[in-house]
Amino acid sequence: MAATVLVVEDEPAIQELIAYNLRQAGHQPLRADSAEQALKLMQEALPDLVLLDWMLPGLSGIELARRLRADRRTRSIPIIMLTARAEEHDKLTGLETGADDYITKPFSPRELTARVKAVLRRRAPQMTDDVVQVGELHLDPATHRVSARSEPVQLGPTEFRMLHFLMTHPERVHSRTQLLDQVWGDHVFVEERTVDVHIRRLRKALEPTGQDALIQTVRGSGYRLSGG
Ligand code: CA
Repeated sequence: MAATVLVVEDEPAIQELIAYNLRQAGHQPLRADSAEQALKLMQEALPDLVLLDWMLPGLSGIELARRLRADRRTRSIPIIMLTARAEEHDKLTGLETGADDYITKPFSPRELTARVKAVLRRRAPQMTDDVVQVGELHLDPATHRVSARSEPVQLGPTEFRMLHFLMTHPERVHSRTQLLDQVWGDHVFVEERTVDVHIRRLRKALEPTGQDALIQTVRGSGYRLSGG
């Protein structure tokens, strides 16, 4: 499970410590000293998760969390708030603004990586290495292998990510925009019809195993993977 994690923290020593521990856990840290810098970085590319310090110079962590939740492009990025405050009231305020979890300083590297993993598993199961099974389809993220009734299925990297996302979010209709957000990470330069192209390739790859019917087109809405 390698995730890109944006660390927004103004204290250099803490920022360094967090980045070090994220790298040790196999993640790719990006760093910002302020909310303003974080916003600028996110204009270029979206991270898989944001670790956000509550007390920042200028725009506060809480205010940045509010802005990320109010913007359609950044709405679904998981956020973990970092704070020195342990009061229950502050914890509630943090969660109300849309943070997924909350870590109180000082925290151990072990706690940090465990929280990151738990939030990714809950909010972005396609980021984890957990094996997924829907109907006859079996997908192993660690080995990048897909099979149906033990028959291997050959997929390109984009089709693999798309199938992984669909299998970890079955029975739900995903619009093309949502699929672009989730599978491409960011879609500033990708057109919506690109999704259709990759869905076609995915179905074609699944056809020999008879599993292509799992991917359903929902007219006017998008796509759904249904195992039942
Ligand atoms: Ca701070």
